[in-house]
Amino acid sequence: MKIIVIKFGGTSVGNLNRIKKVANIIISYIKRKYKVIVISSAMSGVTNELLLKIEKIAKEFPDAEKDVILSTGEQVASALIAGKLNELGYISRSWLSWQIPILTEGKYNSSRITNIYKNKILSYLKKGGTPIIAGFQGVNSDNRLTTLERGGSDASAIMCAKFFKAKECIIYTDVEGVFTTDPRLIKSAKKIKKISYEEMLEMASLGSKVMQPASIQDARLNRIDVKVKSSFKKKSGTLITKKKKIFNNNVIRGISFTKNDAKFTLVGIKDRPGVAAAIFKPLYENSVNVDMVVQNISGIGRETDLTFTIKIDDLYKTEKLVKKNKSIKFKKLIIDKNVSKVSIIGVGMITTPGVTYKMFQALAQKKINIEVISTSEIKISVLVNKKNLKKSVETLHKEFKLDSL
Ligand code: ADP
Ligand code: ASP
Ligand code: MG
Repeated sequence: MKIIVIKFGGTSVGNLNRIKKVANIIISYIKRKYKVIVISSAMSGVTNELLLKIEKIAKEFPDAEKDVILSTGEQVASALIAGKLNELGYISRSWLSWQIPILTEGKYNSSRITNIYKNKILSYLKKGGTPIIAGFQGVNSDNRLTTLERGGSDASAIMCAKFFKAKECIIYTDVEGVFTTDPRLIKSAKKIKKISYEEMLEMASLGSKVMQPASIQDARLNRIDVKVKSSFKKKSGTLITKKKKIFNNNVIRGISFTKNDAKFTLVGIKDRPGVAAAIFKPLYENSVNVDMVVQNISGIGRETDLTFTIKIDDLYKTEKLVKKNKSIKFKKLIIDKNVSKVSIIGVGMITTPGVTYKMFQALAQKKINIEVISTSEIKISVLVNKKNLKKSVETLHKEFKLDSL
């Protein structure tokens, strides 16, 4: 069987007209003798609306119940697609995770797929049916519904490609592929033809929401080639694949950014060995993810300042935890919500000296102040004031010659 997995994102199924277009894309594969497995996201905005309802009805809402609600968006979209295909004369039905089943492990709201039972879907394909699988959801060992992290239909598609040994896995979205940076912010962004799992994972984790980070981990682990394409325009997309298959001279492949960070500065902390651990322990215990950290040098026993960033969603929780932390003493707490993290990414960085200097110099020339820095082998991130976000990305996009690819 020539199986192909195709996934449609929120905007691609965003209204009834779009769903008709999606049905035509699916039919074009059926006509080319593919056995098509379709994964659908919820219609755009639906998951956010459901989250709002949850937040409004109760402050402490059980995570398991949250997932029952959040998974409904995909149920609606997959049935709409199946219904349209039926009308057009094709055998099709929706499949919810528990009907297959798609098994998951881990916490509610951020589960990971561990197994997909094949028999029912394979026999349905053999009968000529086109299954429309609700993405983003699974079922756990307690027989309860779970959801993957936000954007998780990407992971549903990649794991289906793995378990059904698909020839191809195509992610249909609202842009033509993966670009050097978000094409909605920077008009000169260029489409990348091929990108390695490593670079894509870094870009996705650092804010390029075109692919869900966990899904790229799944693709890399299972060596699944992933194509990202537009469901709006018939154009070649981006292939996400092994490093070995890519020939590229550019040191920097892409620039990612976030808009949902917050910066905490603890001014005048009484410095002593273990003080940083004392600050971060309660944050860790309460699942607050600390991202960038910088601490001023001080003589032992003197005062120092410590700055760190977290996701804005964790702001109130973090503020409460820091203020009630009895094991630390500080003079002032400053919270800044107007920050953005801008990151340059590229495996070529490992062997190319001077990238850090070039980045800092380019930003300095535009009088953009860098507030915090963090680096890894294949990325450099800086924290800037949100008002400088676009200027920073534009400057770096030019500096690293991504404009002229
Ligand atoms: P879907 O609903 O199809 O899953 P998403 O909204 O999750 O789509 O992802 C697509 C969006 O990702 C695009 O509309 C684009 O604004 C954004 N994006 C951010 N960074 C990039 C990038 N480097 N390349 C392409 N798109 C990007
Ligand atoms: N509907 C889910 C979300 O908005 C999953 C997805 O779109 O991939 O996060
Ligand atoms: Mg998405």
